[in-house]
Amino acid sequence: MFQQEFTYETRPVRVVFRPGAAVTATPDEAARLGLRRLLVVCGSRGEPTAREIADALGDRCAGVHAEARMHVPVEDADRAVAAARAAGADGCVAVGGGSAIGLGKAIALRTGLPLIAVPSTYSGSEMTPVWGLTERGTKRTGRDPAVQPRSVVYDPRLTLGLPVPLTVTSGVNALAHAVEALYAPDASPLTSLMAKEGVRAMTQALPRLAEHPRDEDARGRALYAAWLCGACLGATTMGLHHKLCHVLGGTFGLPHAETHTVLLPYALAFNAPAAIGALSVLRRALGADDVPRALWDLTGRLGASRSLAALGLTEAGLAPTARSAAGEPYANPRPVTVEDALAVLRAAYGGGPP
Ligand code: NAD
Repeated sequence: MFQQEFTYETRPVRVVFRPGAAVTATPDEAARLGLRRLLVVCGSRGEPTAREIADALGDRCAGVHAEARMHVPVEDADRAVAAARAAGADGCVAVGGGSAIGLGKAIALRTGLPLIAVPSTYSGSEMTPVWGLTERGTKRTGRDPAVQPRSVVYDPRLTLGLPVPLTVTSGVNALAHAVEALYAPDASPLTSLMAKEGVRAMTQALPRLAEHPRDEDARGRALYAAWLCGACLGATTMGLHHKLCHVLGGTFGLPHAETHTVLLPYALAFNAPAAIGALSVLRRALGADDVPRALWDLTGRLGASRSLAALGLTEAGLAPTARSAAGEPYANPRPVTVEDALAVLRAAYGGGPP
């Protein structure tokens, strides 16, 4: 179906996609941006890779700050900003998953320093102007062009060691961006093309990676899909699914990618009657008639947890999450009452077929 009306804004972000690019291309990107003192930000697990990149940056590296944690606690952001200032940094390189990139964005938000992202998961944060900070159990997010990385260096080799469970859940995190982009109020022909191709490439790569996690060709395809899905996230407004995940992560500390993986089939099943066009695109991309069920089958087959209970949520968490998710206005193809949100959460809590 041709979309007769749309708005699409292009953001200036340079993408370099190449096996081995983390070490070879990051210094070039820094030089292109005229940056001379970069603080390299990462989490503890990503530190060895970050140090290789720091070495490749040579004189352009002003230090390594290896303190990134999930959901960017505000005190971590304070320390990272202080480290950037103390180092006299004129830019940052974030190396790792969405948590490391989130910390880099927090520095960019407070200081205006340009950011280069070198992602090692499929979260897609590198393609968005969205930042997130968590304070006293509440996660705040916002959009600011200052946090959009200026350059993104995609190196599939960085993902070779991503454990299979995280590969699967991070991949489904990416799928969630594409799914919600298809029924977003600001969807456009370009975001819909990217979403369709992202879903196709990711759902084909994941079963291959579950069998052979070090398959470089499949890693390349999954990261390519993550780029497309991340671009969808950056260009459109997400709905109920992302809202629920956001509350569950910020308030109950549930793991990000795993929560997306559990919830997606149920949130999509709820939205399906109001998202006919999106569902028909997804049916073709997945080659399945019942898309929520196909996603549920896929994640279960690949070994992911299927219920919020398995992620450690207690039943007492469902009602506050539903109230919080339904309490604020946001874009969704179907209006969402507290009861609706609770029904979606209950289904996801149980983990049965959507
Ligand atoms: P993460 O960055 O916390 O990484 C998950 C785990 O995987 C960590 O323990 C990390 O050390 C490890 N890891 C990362 N890459 C690895 C690799 N290649 N090999 C082995 N281990 C690796 O998790 P995530 O799912 O990538 O990101 C989640 C965070 O990103 C959340 O805070 C979420 O809110 C945020 N996020 C933000 C946006 C945005 O647009 N702002 C988009 C998506 C996610």
